[in-house]
Amino acid sequence: MADPESYEISALCYAVRTNRKHHENFIGSAWSDPMHDQDEPIAYYVWTLKNANRTVVVDTGFDKTEWSRRTENSGGLWQCEYDQSPAEGLTGIGVDTRQVQDVIVTHLHYDHAGSLNDFPKARFHLQELEMQYATGPHMGHGYFSGAYTVDHVIDMVRNVYKGRVVFHTGDSEIAPGITVHHVGGHTMGMQFVRVMTVRGWVVLASDASHFYANFEDNAPFPIVYNVADMLKGFDKMRSLASTRNHIIPGHDPQVMTRYPGATAPGVGAMVRLDQSPD
Ligand SMILES: [Zn+2]
Repeated sequence: MADPESYEISALCYAVRTNRKHHENFIGSAWSDPMHDQDEPIAYYVWTLKNANRTVVVDTGFDKTEWSRRTENSGGLWQCEYDQSPAEGLTGIGVDTRQVQDVIVTHLHYDHAGSLNDFPKARFHLQELEMQYATGPHMGHGYFSGAYTVDHVIDMVRNVYKGRVVFHTGDSEIAPGITVHHVGGHTMGMQFVRVMTVRGWVVLASDASHFYANFEDNAPFPIVYNVADMLKGFDKMRSLASTRNHIIPGHDPQVMTRYPGATAPGVGAMVRLDQSPD
């Protein structure tokens, strides 16, 4: 492996679902848990890794069409603040998605792989097991397929046929200082990303840990393919990040207040993860 280069990491929040409850985020939250029905909003992010040599995007989020569809189909249950698409938001922070060469897709859920067409020149880095899972027999169960959008999966299949998908198995280097690590758990092919920065190795967990409390308390998230692998994934993140303060959960609104860069947490906020948290 080449000597690691160092990167600036930005997290851009492009949506916030406001009415999610605590028990939707932690399997162990029984009715007897006083937190059970408490509101616990979930934030949606895309991430950029930048240095003088390259810009890599991690996940593509979902576009306005997907937002409208989920809002309309939910009967009012899915309340999600949304303004610009991830591509529009990224343009606003100086990343032209039409020119991006490498996109790491941590998994194919609707909120991570939903606007592939906004990256017309990119190679998509995906775990082989994720494509197998998203197109295989488990998708016959609504429990497993609910967080996928079939059109997104088909878009990725089209990219396979164009030679634009780079399949990884296990641990892999994307560029000097950027590696991906298969964990499974949340989905069969879930991978997280490790990035070298001026403060050391940062782990972008994506949905290997949605909230700080998932990995800090070893408390698994309810949308899951394999709970044991999800718990092992928490250990793997801890072993590969420089410290616990270098692990960035995939959906926690606290990321926007712990890290510098945003005047107010919420949709449109951008924070710098290569800098130290408060
Ligand atoms: Zn997600």
